[in-house]
Amino acid sequence: MSETPERYPHDVLVVGAGGAGLRAAIEAAAMGASVGLVCKSLLGKAHTVMAEGGVAAAMGHVEPKDNWRVHFRDTMIGGKLLNNPRMAQLHAQEAPDRVRELEAWGAVFDRTRDGRILQRPFGGHSYSRLAHVGDRTGLEMIRTLQDRAVAAGIQVYMECTITHLMSRPDRVRGAFGYWRTTGQPVLFPAKAIVLATGGVGRAFEVTSNSWEYSGDGQALALLAGAELIDMEFVQFHPTGMVWPPGVRGLLVTEAVRGEGGILRNKDGERFMWKYLPEDRRHEYAATDEEASRWVEAQSASRPTDARRPPELSTRDNVARAIYTEVREGRGSPHGGVFLDISYLPADHVRRKLPSMYEQFKELADVDITAGPMEVGPTTHYIMGGIRVDAETGATTRPGLFAAGEVSGGMHGANRLGGNSLSDLLVFGQRTGAGAAADAATQSGETYVDPVAVRAAAAELAAPLAPGSGEDPYRLHEELQGVMQTLVGIFRTESDLDEAIGKLADLRRRWPAIRVTGGRAYNPGWGLVYELRNMLIVSEAIARSAKQRRESRGAHSRIDFPEPDEKWAKLNSVVHMAGDSMKVKSARLPALPNELQQLITKEVS
Ligand SMILES: Cc1cc2nc3c(=O)[nH]c(=O)nc-3n(C[C@H](O)[C@H](O)[C@H](O)COP(=O)(O)OP(=O)(O)OC[C@H]3O[C@@H](n4cnc5c(N)ncnc54)[C@H](O)[C@@H]3O)c2cc1C
Repeated sequence: MSETPERYPHDVLVVGAGGAGLRAAIEAAAMGASVGLVCKSLLGKAHTVMAEGGVAAAMGHVEPKDNWRVHFRDTMIGGKLLNNPRMAQLHAQEAPDRVRELEAWGAVFDRTRDGRILQRPFGGHSYSRLAHVGDRTGLEMIRTLQDRAVAAGIQVYMECTITHLMSRPDRVRGAFGYWRTTGQPVLFPAKAIVLATGGVGRAFEVTSNSWEYSGDGQALALLAGAELIDMEFVQFHPTGMVWPPGVRGLLVTEAVRGEGGILRNKDGERFMWKYLPEDRRHEYAATDEEASRWVEAQSASRPTDARRPPELSTRDNVARAIYTEVREGRGSPHGGVFLDISYLPADHVRRKLPSMYEQFKELADVDITAGPMEVGPTTHYIMGGIRVDAETGATTRPGLFAAGEVSGGMHGANRLGGNSLSDLLVFGQRTGAGAAADAATQSGETYVDPVAVRAAAAELAAPLAPGSGEDPYRLHEELQGVMQTLVGIFRTESDLDEAIGKLADLRRRWPAIRVTGGRAYNPGWGLVYELRNMLIVSEAIARSAKQRRESRGAHSRIDFPEPDEKWAKLNSVVHMAGDSMKVKSARLPALPNELQQLITKEVS
């Protein structure tokens, strides 16, 4: 096996081939850059493909009153006003064009009766706003973007894991990794790099995320000198499967509640009425009867003056409600609550939620058209991520860009459902353009320090050395236990201190990991670097959660249960100082007057 890496230079290297990476690559190529697109699994298998419910864009096809101003306001209110306002503005303004563009590129969305893109309701959105393809929206999005990228001649490097960024003092200049198929090292010198590697869910025990979500991009950026923001805000989606144990955490899409799914505890109580925040209660139905009228109108795609059911409260709120019901002894037999859509006609349920129907039938032997599902919270998404410039996706480290779930700022303290797919499209496009423009300022061949490359290759090979040591699977299990029990939905100072201590211990043990077997398709070896990344990201989450002594959005502190005005305009910022991680707070970008008015006034 040669330790000399294969070498593939590009103007722009995009790491990650989900929605964000694909959209960035397409844009950079359209600007004339030579683009390489790397992904650690097969093309088309990114996390985006799992997205079910839809993509949020204020097109107003179902409810003409919708527009970007209302979408902006909903996003800011959902994010508890901690969002980067410029990002939220660009997102709301540009999402409709990005969705129409996707349609022009061949995406086939569900249709209104008059042939326009159909939009469905989702939690926290004032109007029916999610363009969708049944409950398989991500699949259609990936298929379309992938076709476009391949047609644009973008060079794709599949089953290739990036483990190190190659930096010089002035800027980031390349990425180093290995082929999963052979274990052979590979180097990508690049004038600009876009990280689009997605989230961090695998650091937790119960998650809707796939094996690819190990916080690689967040950790690589931090180690290369960039900053992370708002890492304390981890979204626990209210509805994951709870039974059988092998599928625990698998997502039950919010579309089930969007289509009228009702949550009940073991006593049959529709408990969400109790948990609606008082300041937003007026936005929800007042009675079962009003909620039913709303569901009927939605099913028939016709306008109504009825308000939304209480199940469509924001995700943070519904997750806390379910957690509380279970903790107080009103849970279902397997530690969740009941979600029921079986009161609607069976053929309607099967048509609107085909994946959910199959998922429960195949995996839990439950027919959702005949009875309720059991559901409970699952780690789903991270609002925090790499700190970026709203216009270009540039990080705080020259030459390095980020887009999609790996980046932070757009969603504040809580993301609304559907706002991730639109985020990928809007900021994928902007970041691809930003990276291509930056790469164009760099002339000549990109120099990567050979000493740094040799050091990365040696580090990569170290766990394969003969002898015994720590087992990566065991360390991973311990990490997941720490994050699940001490840094989960409800947090306290003492739990977070304990977590930080345990994470430090795991990081101390990490260099002693040894794995058996060769380099080709060795999942244990692959886990070693993912584990390094998960440990770094977990520490960033725990330290940021400790710093924020209040409850806001998805971050709930039992010892500081209320929002604190002092923290209302502060983001948490994480950076590395040598080998140690530091957390500070930074003032939110100012909210221009005209945007402030959109939040304080009711807009339509
Ligand atoms: C089950 C489920 C349903 C969802 N439904 C919705 C929905 O309906 N609407 C919505 O808005 N959001 C939804 N989300 C969230 C949304 O799907 C994700 O936030 C979004 O797809 C993330 O896209 P991305 O492009 O940032 O990353 P991904 O699509 O995850 O792509 C990450 C890419 O990075 C690559 N990668 C990672 N690490 C490395 C590395 N070290 N080296 C090389 N490559 C690497 C991976 O191989 C992959 O290609 C859902 C999420 C889940 C889990």
